[in-house]
Amino acid sequence: MRPPIIAGNWKMNCLLNEAADLAAGIRKLLDGFDGVEVVVCPPFTALPAVRQTLNGSRIKLGGQDMHWEPKGAFTGEVSPTMLKDTGCTHVIIGHSERRHILGETNDMVNRKLKAALANDLTPIVCVGELLEERQMKVTREVVEKHVTKAFDGIAAKDAERAVVAYEPVWAIGTGLTATPTQAQEIHHFARNILTRLYNEATAQRIRILYGGSVKPDNIRTLMAEKDVDGALVGGASLKAADFNAIARYKE
Ligand code: PEP
Repeated sequence: MRPPIIAGNWKMNCLLNEAADLAAGIRKLLDGFDGVEVVVCPPFTALPAVRQTLNGSRIKLGGQDMHWEPKGAFTGEVSPTMLKDTGCTHVIIGHSERRHILGETNDMVNRKLKAALANDLTPIVCVGELLEERQMKVTREVVEKHVTKAFDGIAAKDAERAVVAYEPVWAIGTGLTATPTQAQEIHHFARNILTRLYNEATAQRIRILYGGSVKPDNIRTLMAEKDVDGALVGGASLKAADFNAIARYKE
């Protein structure tokens, strides 16, 4: 019912030639593969080069962030229309590195989510707790706040086009992965919040990805969980062979 997504977040990696090589490697391995929706999110500078490399393939392109305004005096920012202009269909919003290193607030995440939906981009909105928050046993409160604030003022018909990524911050880039049981517990909890905010049908349509040290050897057990609808992959998305193996987890 919910088509799985495997999305690669390249973060601040890859010069132009490296990005084109990585995209070409991924294309070679995944061209024509339609088992899941595959998205790659290179840095802004590499979007045109990656688009060119992926042209005509099923692999989709996403931005790693964007501003909510269409244009104007926002030095250093990139607008939704600029992302679309480079061929993006997706955009990551509220990644924990933006929230915790660059000071992105729930209000900014909400504005970005609304702007992405208004511009027909598929937002991948990231939520998740810090290690201290998990240790203090407030994971549910944190996720509830992230989800509720992100979707504030968004109608059900738009919300169902969004994708949520549960990314426990302690699992990002650390090699520590949430167990499938831990992931399922929070995915189920997040879906219940979406049911409360909207309704059962809408919540059942929203895809919830897991992110945090996803690798070829742990994707299968994570994807076996009922509420895990795909993965947002950081480090392993920088190796074409690993990203291919993750996308082909069913094989
Ligand atoms: C991410 O950047 O969203 C991520 C999950 O990174 P990693 O897979 O490297 O933990």
